[in-house]
Amino acid sequence: MKIICIGRNYAAHSEELDRLTGGAAPEGEPVWFLKPDTALLRNNDPFYIPSFSQEVHYECELVVKINRVGKSISERFARRYYDEVGLGIDFTARDLQREAVDKGLPWERCKAFDHSAALSPEFVRLEGLGGNVQNLEFTLDINGERRQVGRTSEMLFSVDQIIACLSQYMTLKIGDLIYTGTPAGVGPVHPGDTLSASIGDRELLNFDIR
Ligand code: MG
Repeated sequence: MKIICIGRNYAAHSEELDRLTGGAAPEGEPVWFLKPDTALLRNNDPFYIPSFSQEVHYECELVVKINRVGKSISERFARRYYDEVGLGIDFTARDLQREAVDKGLPWERCKAFDHSAALSPEFVRLEGLGGNVQNLEFTLDINGERRQVGRTSEMLFSVDQIIACLSQYMTLKIGDLIYTGTPAGVGPVHPGDTLSASIGDRELLNFDIR
């Protein structure tokens, strides 16, 4: 199982990231990177802020679960490779990311650490959500205050385009998870925070920061 994360997939967040870290927006293809399976944080378990970062940010993202093996999938058939979505938090050590971007270094240090990929215990069938992955709204609240609203209609690269692109390079396997990018509104987490994320009015994530 692999965790594939898409960067800069919402225009407003891409601009926000320019201010936070520098770097450049993608052209033609999505930006993507991997997290190892040890990054998963499941069952709404608490997230412990790691000692190596002074600035860990939340990034709430729609997560697509792959349900068939595929390689070089064309965009028009991509829909056959998923039927469930969940929510995740792509925890990011923003201070280490800034350093990586400055020096042109890989992102694993700031993105792939243990428990950096919170994942909802439950996935929801797309059929039950209207069937169109590009017509969903998801939200993140912290301590009851709304911080992020994602409208999948605003993705720069659609889920089907992402699958077509990724599968040119890597075989997609059953159970692979695609974190599809975060909307604007990212920010730091602090011990004592409670994160709650929903698709529509269905709460899928609810866990604490320690
Ligand atoms: Mg992200």
